[in-house]
Amino acid sequence: MHDVIVIGGSFAGQSAALQLARARQDVLLIDAGLPRNRFADAAHGFLGQDGRSPGAIIRDATCQLSAYPSAEVLAGKAQEASIDDGHFVVTMRNGAERRARRIILATGVTDMLPDIPGMAERWGATVLHCPYCHGYEVRDRALGIIANHPMSAHQAALIPDWGRATYFTQGLYEPNADELALLVKRGVTIERTPVVALIGEAPGLRAVALADGRVIEIFAVFTAPATKLTSPIAKMLGCAMDDGPTGPFIKVDAWGLTSISGVYAAGDATSPVHNATIASASGVLAGIATHQSLARS
Ligand SMILES: Cc1cc2nc3c(=O)[nH]c(=O)nc-3n(C[C@H](O)[C@H](O)[C@H](O)COP(=O)(O)OP(=O)(O)OC[C@H]3O[C@@H](n4cnc5c(N)ncnc54)[C@H](O)[C@@H]3O)c2cc1C
Repeated sequence: MHDVIVIGGSFAGQSAALQLARARQDVLLIDAGLPRNRFADAAHGFLGQDGRSPGAIIRDATCQLSAYPSAEVLAGKAQEASIDDGHFVVTMRNGAERRARRIILATGVTDMLPDIPGMAERWGATVLHCPYCHGYEVRDRALGIIANHPMSAHQAALIPDWGRATYFTQGLYEPNADELALLVKRGVTIERTPVVALIGEAPGLRAVALADGRVIEIFAVFTAPATKLTSPIAKMLGCAMDDGPTGPFIKVDAWGLTSISGVYAAGDATSPVHNATIASASGVLAGIATHQSLARS
């Protein structure tokens, strides 16, 4: 019986497990090894790690966590979780079971890219989700924003601080009057004919092809994919959900406690704002809160 099982060993899960190991709790971290930003060569804006590869950051974190005697790291996928007499039972894909007094879900979200040929093979390189993460690396170039979401016009208004911006409405996400005024003021070109393909040698991007046959030179595009929870375990345990602008996320209080007693959650899976630092910080909170709930029990 572990004190805590953390499912998901990326920015949020590692941060939670580290607090628990340092509080001398028996913590098991289970990780399938597929962090959301694995498509990018480098992560940016993470204090002290700016420009390092996501894999290197997580490898260092795993190494540091494993040095604590009460921490165990298990590579693999947790298939399901259930509650048995006040304890949590986690079943691995190979059928092995692990039990714990508390559980932390840090399983992240999965991106569902717009269905445009050429997107997937450029994801994280020249098809980008966040200008704060990757805008600096494509600065001073021709940049596109491919709308797939009512808030895409908001993102488009930010992009001129990184490069010459064209907002592709895809014929679906026409800016309202206020958004239009801001886009014009910010010097954003608006293109209403849908983008139907990305062109160039992937992962590079040379241009976008429009439905009317025109080709517009673009160095990189931003888009905000719809997201879904990577793991169904929160739903299996009965956790309540919230709706975010890109997809559902697990409802938690300020300390990461879900609607189910003893179940905590952290990271992208619990927030409409997706960023490694924010995921890590929420993991720290969930780790501390989980320890305190054990200490009080
Ligand atoms: C292309 C791209 C680039 C990005 N670049 C940046 C950047 O430069 N800077 C920045 O701040 N943010 C960046 N982000 C956002 C950042 O990746 C996320 O905010 C962050 O990874 C969230 O961390 P997390 O721990 O919540 O989830 P994740 O990183 O998604 O990790 C979840 C982990 O849980 C594991 N898992 C899921 N289900 C199970 C299961 N059932 N059993 C076991 N393990 C499981 C997964 O394999 C994974 O390892 C980027 C995102 C993308 C898509």
